[in-house]
Amino acid sequence: MPGEQTSENLKITSSVEEKDLFFARFYERFPNDADRLEVICRAASPNGIKCKCGSLVTNRKYGERTARCHSCRKKVSATADTFFHGVKKATAHCCAIFVIGEGLAISANDFSKRVKVATSSGSVILHEVSAAIVNVMNDEVEMLSAILCEPVGKRSKETPAREHPKAEQADAEKRAAERSKAASSASPQDLLQRMSESTQSKSAIPENEIEKQIYELLSAQPTQFDALCKHFKLPQSELLAALTMLELSGFVKALSGNRFEILRKDVSNSIQQPSFPISTNNKEAKIFFQFVYKTFHRVSRKYLQRYLARYWCFIDRKRWQFESLLELCGRSARKSYEQLTGYVTPLSVKVVL
Ligand SMILES: [Zn+2]
Repeated sequence: MPGEQTSENLKITSSVEEKDLFFARFYERFPNDADRLEVICRAASPNGIKCKCGSLVTNRKYGERTARCHSCRKKVSATADTFFHGVKKATAHCCAIFVIGEGLAISANDFSKRVKVATSSGSVILHEVSAAIVNVMNDEVEMLSAILCEPVGKRSKETPAREHPKAEQADAEKRAAERSKAASSASPQDLLQRMSESTQSKSAIPENEIEKQIYELLSAQPTQFDALCKHFKLPQSELLAALTMLELSGFVKALSGNRFEILRKDVSNSIQQPSFPISTNNKEAKIFFQFVYKTFHRVSRKYLQRYLARYWCFIDRKRWQFESLLELCGRSARKSYEQLTGYVTPLSVKVVL
């Protein structure tokens, strides 16, 4: 098809020249510390600063963080209790929002060197911005994190001792399965009743509508219990009952990690592919993997969702620019370091691929 994008001509990273250019543009647009501080103060308090006395303080001078309240004469700060609370180096925050918003692919290491902050500080800033983006991904496509774990290869505090970083996924699934088992309320009588009914069924595919749907979905690839719950938006007990039925009828087999796969592969050819993307052969997912490899090399599973957010900024040039990302950060809630680093990517992630 003419004009169709293929993986060959799709951009998967930013070159050194592009990085140089983006940073040059940033320093050209905001040459002084005052210019950069002004940017974040305006984003944090776009309509003036609300004083505790109730007054709106609008006499803040350009490039100054604080102003004096005209009513109570107290000093008020434009960034207090905002996303930018306690920001010391406005340059690093402003620049992070600029380069991410404008679509640059850059690692924390590279970013930190270029804005002259410690790698740990640079990394936290990039995480803060990425976390703000994650918060507006609720309406995006849902995918199982399990099938996006290919570029996971970096340890986090979630990684089980003496295991590969990828083991975090199975560990997260195991814990979710334990939680769902504890929450399940299907009574043994219900299941027995359905079991005796099921042994009479000899059809090639399940007759019950929901069981049929689960079976069709599983025919694409083994899927985790929690992801099935989310996909079908069913109570866990109901889904568990359906899966038990499928298992007893010999359609489905339970695997480790609370995953399920279909048993009668011979009839799966006639079954339609499910509408939601669950295969790693997904071309778009592979391009995301390349993006991670080229820019970050390896990432932790814990923060996978944040890299998906960064990828969204990288590819969606209509949705994201400096201004839109700045506005988002300005209205995002303040996050403590503990909140920021306590995040763990859920089993089902939001993606824009
Ligand atoms: Zn006041």
